[in-house]
Amino acid sequence: MRPEILFPLFAPITSLKGVGPRVAPLLEKVAGPIVRDVLWLKPHSLIRRTPAVLSAARDGETMTFEVAIHGYQAPRTKAQPWRVQVTDPTGFMTLVFFGRYGDQLAQRHPVGARRIVSGKVEESSFGRQMVHPDYILPPEKAGEIPELEAVYPATEGLPARRVRGFVLEALERAPELPEWQDPAFLRQEQFPAWRAAMERLHNPQSEADLSLLSPHRRRLAFDELLAHQLAMAQRKAARRREPAARVAASETAEKIRADLPFRFTGAQERALAEIRADLSAGERMSRLVQGDVGSGKTVVAMCAMADVAASGGQSALMAPTEILARQHYETISGPLAAHGVGTVLLTGRDKGAARREKLAALASGEARVAVGTHALFQDEVAFQKLQLVVIDEQHRFGVAERQRLQAKGEATHLIAMSATPIPRTLELTVYGDLDVSRIDEKPPGRTPVATRAAPMTRAHEVEARLREAVQGGAQAFWICPLVSESEATDLAAAERRAAELTERIGPSVGLVHGRLPPAAKDAVMAEFAEGRLSVLVATTVVEVGVNVPNATIMVIEQAERFGLAQLHQLRGRVGRGRRESACVLLYDPPLSETAQQRLDILRRTDDGFVIAEKDLELRGGGDALGLRQSGFPDYAFADPIAHRDLIAAAGDDARLIVMRDPELAGERGKALQVLQELFDWKANLGLRDAG
Ligand code: ADP
Ligand code: MG
Repeated sequence: MRPEILFPLFAPITSLKGVGPRVAPLLEKVAGPIVRDVLWLKPHSLIRRTPAVLSAARDGETMTFEVAIHGYQAPRTKAQPWRVQVTDPTGFMTLVFFGRYGDQLAQRHPVGARRIVSGKVEESSFGRQMVHPDYILPPEKAGEIPELEAVYPATEGLPARRVRGFVLEALERAPELPEWQDPAFLRQEQFPAWRAAMERLHNPQSEADLSLLSPHRRRLAFDELLAHQLAMAQRKAARRREPAARVAASETAEKIRADLPFRFTGAQERALAEIRADLSAGERMSRLVQGDVGSGKTVVAMCAMADVAASGGQSALMAPTEILARQHYETISGPLAAHGVGTVLLTGRDKGAARREKLAALASGEARVAVGTHALFQDEVAFQKLQLVVIDEQHRFGVAERQRLQAKGEATHLIAMSATPIPRTLELTVYGDLDVSRIDEKPPGRTPVATRAAPMTRAHEVEARLREAVQGGAQAFWICPLVSESEATDLAAAERRAAELTERIGPSVGLVHGRLPPAAKDAVMAEFAEGRLSVLVATTVVEVGVNVPNATIMVIEQAERFGLAQLHQLRGRVGRGRRESACVLLYDPPLSETAQQRLDILRRTDDGFVIAEKDLELRGGGDALGLRQSGFPDYAFADPIAHRDLIAAAGDDARLIVMRDPELAGERGKALQVLQELFDWKANLGLRDAG
């Protein structure tokens, strides 16, 4: 239940003075539906209103003058503005008013009256002027003009100054709240109290106060991070309190491993050991295994599934597409079957008797492992004893989908696999309620993909080389980006490219794109995987995990439009076999400096974790959207770059709190409950409620 002290902040914005039916939707668009959201707006700049005399006016500056109204010049046509001449002992200026003002102006500011005017000075061909002054007041009201004014985000019909007025009113309503931070940490960081931090946020004293690094901004960021980390730590603790089947490391799994034609890398060993420690602890596991495509995640999961089978349980491995499910099945069913672990593949394609047989095998426990697509969580699918769920490409599934599958067993363990490496600093904020294993080492013997960048103008050369390579038996991906707003336009571009390549290379060119129905998409992918197509033109739908070892060439058009992580994953489609592979990044010149740096990083390294860290650095925190796409929460105050040190501190603090006062019953605990309610944390993350 929400503490009473927060009621004023959770009141609707219409409770603010001046927020009626016209303004409310505008303010809601800028801030949100409640007073707290208005309080949380952040000024993006400062206007300093320098009091001056007219002779000292400077073009482009916001200044304040005391003037006398000298005369009016009415517009001669509707398009012309009203012009008002003003003077002070040092010079002249014209105030310019467009539109509706009309005759009222002269009534409100009669000739001869003294006025304080404040606004932006412009030197134009008409002389010195000020268009629509921000303030025009009689001298006795000069105090209403702030010398420093925070500028807020605005929207059409709701100028920044009105927004500021609402923010200041919201600030008045903000209560003093009990301190939820550790006093020693506050002192060490020189953080102000929450209310004082809010005051400072909205009454900045200088540009430095706008900085993300200022103590009050750091304080607010830390509050937010702590609220979030605490929620995740609590969830994690709750999950750990749930008893779950104990699964021991098995001889079966070790025999399977011994039969593999390769040895595990150190990173795979570590990941398996971490999974086994979880599985044998009697608590419910929720572990994310992060690692580049081809780093060997699936075989690690296979060993865990063998352990589960050996202890009498069942596992389900779910992949986002049929072709991926099929590939997983091909990878793991042989080794598992060789040691008596029966595996079935279940996809949307299974029908009739064959499907009934598979379902019966899962229900009876005869099959110990199910590999499949969304078909796995349908109602008719029942398990005898499901104990482990493995999700491949976890971001491709919704929480509900994963939970439906998990619900087919009791307190089922979870392994989520992701080929999108997340920088370590962000791991906590994105996956704080999970345990994370990183596979940051590639199996030996892979040849790095030779990567180079070339301008689009050289596309024809690339096509010519491609033709030679294809004649020599190579296979290639050609990626067309989704660039325009309209899918149809992008599709047309991809179709043109496919047609052009067909003309140059021959009929073995296929096309996949987002508009194809899944079955058709799978069919084209399968043709490519089986070698019947030599070039696959694709919009970015190329499935992240698809394994086509014979594909050795990756061409990416307009590479500058892709994020680093995406480029890295696309490149990961090749370089999977023994043969040398190449990746060509075609770009539209000129390249921006950042785009240049990105392409350089890609040429220098193929370590997904390194690339993710660099990507984060290059974004410089300005790319909130991109970060959100990679799962970073939509924070109000915390910035992933500027506040990265605080992320770790908040994580540590949250763990300690949950250890010492899991019910948040102590004095600090109660204050922390207020904090959590204040932030009302409801980020919509892929693995939320990982449970
Ligand atoms: P991921 O799931 O991370 O994309 P997979 O587990 O599918 O990777 O492995 C990719 C390929 O590499 C598979 O063919 C697998 O058999 C092989 N592989 C996995 N681990 C190793 C290893 N340690 N050494 C050599 N090959 C490996
Ligand atoms: Mg994979």
